[in-house]
Amino acid sequence: MQAFDLSGRVAIVTGGNGGIGFGMAKGLASAGAAVVVAARNRGKSVAAVRQLQALGSRAEAIEVDVSDEASVQRLVEETASRFGRVDVLVNNAGTNVRKRPEELTLAEWRLVLDTNLTGAFLTSKAAYPHMKAAGGGKIINIGSMMSIFGTPFVAAYAASKGGIVQLTKALATAWARDNIQVNAVLPGWIDTELTRRAREDVPGLHEWVLARIPKGYWGSGDDLAGIAVFLAGPASDYVTGAAIPVDGGYAALG
Ligand code: NDP
Repeated sequence: MQAFDLSGRVAIVTGGNGGIGFGMAKGLASAGAAVVVAARNRGKSVAAVRQLQALGSRAEAIEVDVSDEASVQRLVEETASRFGRVDVLVNNAGTNVRKRPEELTLAEWRLVLDTNLTGAFLTSKAAYPHMKAAGGGKIINIGSMMSIFGTPFVAAYAASKGGIVQLTKALATAWARDNIQVNAVLPGWIDTELTRRAREDVPGLHEWVLARIPKGYWGSGDDLAGIAVFLAGPASDYVTGAAIPVDGGYAALG
């Protein structure tokens, strides 16, 4: 068995045009997978696809809004018709609205839950029949340290990311006999557009994080490439329902 070989596999990465999703997409592409970069901003997706193609991957961009069921359905059907199969789904698309709970509007709550949690459910549900028919598949859901911890500014985000871990466990048990493994990755503090905005919104966050991470530095999207390859390939065939931190030791410190 080539434990980390993804040749011939087809992976969809939602939010694959930047940050963590792009780091994971590069890992999958380097291991031989064809990658569909699925996000809203077409210009960013096309730029990401060019870089994946330079790694030797058959990569394409397909536009999607993960909070819209019809759009998600189109993404999966389009992938299956262009590539012939759907082996790997990375549910990475995500957003945040940083406000104290008493200031958060219902529309903001819904935006975060619809994108981060409902989006993962809809995309997994759409991919399931393709994976089942092919005899198996891999779903990788992106949680967060906010799947475990809370802070005053993340009521909707923490609820969505806690939900991601429970959705992962439920799907893992439901689809285990279909040979579909479903796992969550819990990134620590990773330098991306999302956290660049957080550092602008929350004074002192940058230094606090640096002092708090045992490894002593912010992660990069590339730090998520290895776990993506592991969870997308045969090496993880007996791993399902797990939530794996990739956090420079942040969660271990308590
Ligand atoms: P980015 O802002 O760089 O990436 C977010 C991605 O999600 C973009 O590619 C964006 O693309 C896409 N996206 C957002 N909304 C939608 C939507 N409705 N439909 C489709 N795509 C959407 O941030 P990160 O890389 O940091 O975040 C990626 C994931 O990692 C998120 O789930 C985030 O919660 C999680 N995470 C991040 C951490 C960090 O420290 N950075 C820590 C823990 C978890 P587009 O705008 O083109 O649609």
